[in-house]
Amino acid sequence: MHKLLGITLAALLLAACGAEQPNSSGPHAAAEPAERYEWKLVTSWPKNFPGLGTAPENFAKLVERLSAGRLTIKVFGAGQLVPALEGFDAVSQGVAEMGHDGAYYWKGKTPAAPFFTTLPFGLNAQEMNGWLHYGGGMELWRELYAPFNLVPFAGGNTGVQMAGWFNREINSIDDLKGLKMRIPGLGGEVFSRAGGTAVSMAGGEIYTAMQTGVIDATEWVGPYNDLAFGFHQIAQYYYYPGWQEPGPTLEFIVNKQAFDALPADLQAIIEVASRAINQDMLDEYTARNNAALTELVEQHGVDLRPLPDDVLRELARISAEVVEELASQDPFVRRVADSINAFKAQSMQYHQISEEAYYRARKLD
Ligand code: CA
Repeated sequence: MHKLLGITLAALLLAACGAEQPNSSGPHAAAEPAERYEWKLVTSWPKNFPGLGTAPENFAKLVERLSAGRLTIKVFGAGQLVPALEGFDAVSQGVAEMGHDGAYYWKGKTPAAPFFTTLPFGLNAQEMNGWLHYGGGMELWRELYAPFNLVPFAGGNTGVQMAGWFNREINSIDDLKGLKMRIPGLGGEVFSRAGGTAVSMAGGEIYTAMQTGVIDATEWVGPYNDLAFGFHQIAQYYYYPGWQEPGPTLEFIVNKQAFDALPADLQAIIEVASRAINQDMLDEYTARNNAALTELVEQHGVDLRPLPDDVLRELARISAEVVEELASQDPFVRRVADSINAFKAQSMQYHQISEEAYYRARKLD
């Protein structure tokens, strides 16, 4: 698998550098007529939504190029083929061959699912990629999804998110009490234990829910995406950092029979194209978030605030409690939580003298 991955990554790099791809008159066409595959991909995002929604579109284009048109993938936005949060069942049952979404939407299917998106106060994007691809995470993920007839791949990372949009100042943990907030995954569990009410809803429903008072607060992603949804029009305070989603991994899910039916080279293309898109999304957010934040603050008058340390400390304490409780109830969650916690401990240790030390060093006068 690794050898195959290396070869196809080289092809991918050529593609990324703009090298000419074989076309219908190229050397590949000389081989026997290849079977063509037409797949459907359902997503949890509005069609072409910046970053989240463009990632599966870019994936489909890349797969088509790498396969010289042998595998084409039609991307459906939320609600176009199935509702935003029903991709798991749709792909599991073969209604679509693929999906693009967040594993934490599926915590009702299997309690370990959210751990493959993000843990509150867990791994950042760089660390999630390290854990998944070199720390045993992907093996656990495949094991978890196998009974559901699904093959998972990492499908993007937003980097550290924002804590969210509020119309109330958050000065102490008590200020969270009574708030109804859109906050999915384990962050939502933590928020509820801190005295709020957590609601999970697809991104496209948030604006109206905030506007009509169905919810009081929301988190979504970060400046680039939040600006696109216009949350500055309905909320005054924009809090950071995104303790609830420090490095969320999105997922591509593939129906197992559909994947198994592909020849080995097309399977490898799925694997490396998802790996490329996984990194590409982080690159895009890294490039665009600050300009969007500047626009939110300077043009739209958003009140940008840090969560107080005492609030973060209490949320971190509850987060550890939630993870431990879930692990004690389910042996598979225990394995995943132990794996993530061990990875976090070693990367925190090393990052003290690498990332953290360097962030400090470049700010010295
Ligand atoms: Ca989020």
